Amino acid sequence: MSEKRTEISDIGEFGLIDHLSKKITLKHASSIKGIGDDAAVINSGDHVKVVTTDLLLEGVHFDLTYAPLTHVGFKAVAVNISDIAAMNAIPKQITVSIALSNRFSLEAVDALYQGINAAAEHYNVDVVGGDTTASRSGLVISVTAIGEAKNEQIVYRSGAKEKDIICVTGDLGAALVGLQILEREKQVFLANPEMKPELDKYQIVTARQLRPEARMDIIHELLELDLIPTSMMDISDGLASELFHICKASRVGVTIYEDKLPIDKQTFDTAVELGMDPITCVLNGGEDYELLFTIDQKDYHKLEKHPDIHFIGHTTKPEEGKYLVTKSGTAMELKAQGWKHF
Ligand code: ADP
Ligand code: MG
Repeated sequence: MSEKRTEISDIGEFGLIDHLSKKITLKHASSIKGIGDDAAVINSGDHVKVVTTDLLLEGVHFDLTYAPLTHVGFKAVAVNISDIAAMNAIPKQITVSIALSNRFSLEAVDALYQGINAAAEHYNVDVVGGDTTASRSGLVISVTAIGEAKNEQIVYRSGAKEKDIICVTGDLGAALVGLQILEREKQVFLANPEMKPELDKYQIVTARQLRPEARMDIIHELLELDLIPTSMMDISDGLASELFHICKASRVGVTIYEDKLPIDKQTFDTAVELGMDPITCVLNGGEDYELLFTIDQKDYHKLEKHPDIHFIGHTTKPEEGKYLVTKSGTAMELKAQGWKHF
């Protein structure tokens, strides 16, 4: 008798999370939001706490042949702050857990913590604990971030309505293009260790891969403008995949426009040089850590002139589907390729 075996790769990361969440029920009234958004939301008297966690593994999420440990430390914090930002909350504390193999010296751990402490300073959070253990295979780092907000200030993925305006911050695709460059230079180096990698030309894209910024600046600006988006999430798996999450959670469709998608010139040029389609990089590149949010049309005037917020389209009725209107005016169905770990 053979037992049934389902490969994780058949259901994918999101399928797995869906599967697990079906077996989890919330017992406490204070657990306002559990699995399914960028962070959990917990009632805490006159305000709410938000909690998120991310796990980074050497060889899966970072490669120490080109990622300096200081940047790995900074990034491990920034990616969690990004999820706090995505809830429209302010980060306050982090915990940091590490597992180390004997390859790592005290000096190496100091370099890692230089980045962690720099990020804690930059995002104004306290390192309040963590865990340290041995690892058989390289470095593992897990950060948990805790933030605060007023209950009515929290923005979920589920609040978008029909005819909201879809906004993204910054520019997209840079981190993926940066990763391709770093991988290319690594191969060149492995083939010929005498060759010095030529990275000067690619500084913007490689920096976006190695040391991303969480957009807390935008969250502070939205607070000052008294503007609460109708829905929001951060872009960690690629714009198309994140739009699918908003559509599913909010029960809306989307139409976005190719000519409105923000891409940096260096990202565009480097993608072309690498033989990649720049728009595919924008739609499916991972790890940009920009914010994707929707606003009510009445709030448009507050952001209209913002230099770093781009209006890429609008939400529709769910039955209208998810479309990208190309520069030539053709509507193409959006596919959420996302960033596959499995
Ligand atoms: P993000 O990309 O914003 O970090 P994820 O896609 O990692 O979000 O996670 C989506 C949701 O699933 C979050 O609410 C997260 O807390 C939850 N989640 C992820 N993995 C697990 C797990 N193994 N058990 C329970 N919840 C999980
Ligand atoms: Mg997120």
